[in-house]
Amino acid sequence: MRIVLVGPPGAGKGTQAAYLAENLSIPHISTGDLFRANISQGTPLGRQAKEFMDAGELVPDEVTIGMAKDRLEQPDAGNGCLLDGFPRNLTQAKALDQILEEKGIGLDAVLDLEVPEEEVVKRIAGRRTCRNNSAHTFHVEYKPPKAEGVCDECGGELYQREDDSEETVRKRLEVYHEQTEPIIDYYKTQGLVVTIPALGKVAEVTQRAMEALRQQAA
Ligand code: AMP
Repeated sequence: MRIVLVGPPGAGKGTQAAYLAENLSIPHISTGDLFRANISQGTPLGRQAKEFMDAGELVPDEVTIGMAKDRLEQPDAGNGCLLDGFPRNLTQAKALDQILEEKGIGLDAVLDLEVPEEEVVKRIAGRRTCRNNSAHTFHVEYKPPKAEGVCDECGGELYQREDDSEETVRKRLEVYHEQTEPIIDYYKTQGLVVTIPALGKVAEVTQRAMEALRQQAA
């Protein structure tokens, strides 16, 4: 299956993507993770992306699309993938259509995670992420780690992403409404969108998502 995951920052895309990709045996491709890996390795691409990310803005399309295309050409993405955080605007959505069309394939579903806006700000401002694995996330109030600053799952260091400050979160939400939401309408015209409420326990949301994807594929 080829799936695009959309939803505002803080909807739990990274967490859900990791579980869904495992359940479906397809790679989880997150452009945010690819940028963060480039930043920690100090690559030119990472240096280019960092200033936009820290400001809560989108990294320019030519950089992002090139990076996503390279990743989609890796052999493990041959039989499907779960795209998390890409595409994030109409230009990227059309570029993705073209990349897939050239391979004679298409998307099977666009999973839209719905969360109320006040909840998003609360979730992100208290979020702590593991440096070893960005799917290992905690929350100072809702899901505190057993030992402060240490990941329960792998012992990695927990940190607050620079773009998780309240001010940057508000900017990211604005960018989401203006640039990313229009892709939902674009995909609706292709009959690909399944929307699920993303509130509740992580496992419940995963179950809801799996059921919605099953129905979409049927
Ligand atoms: P994420 O981890 O998906 O929340 O992404 C973190 C940040 O990386 C975003 O706020 C953007 O600055 C950048 N980013 C991730 N994916 C994209 C994309 N598809 N297009 C442009 N910028 C992106």
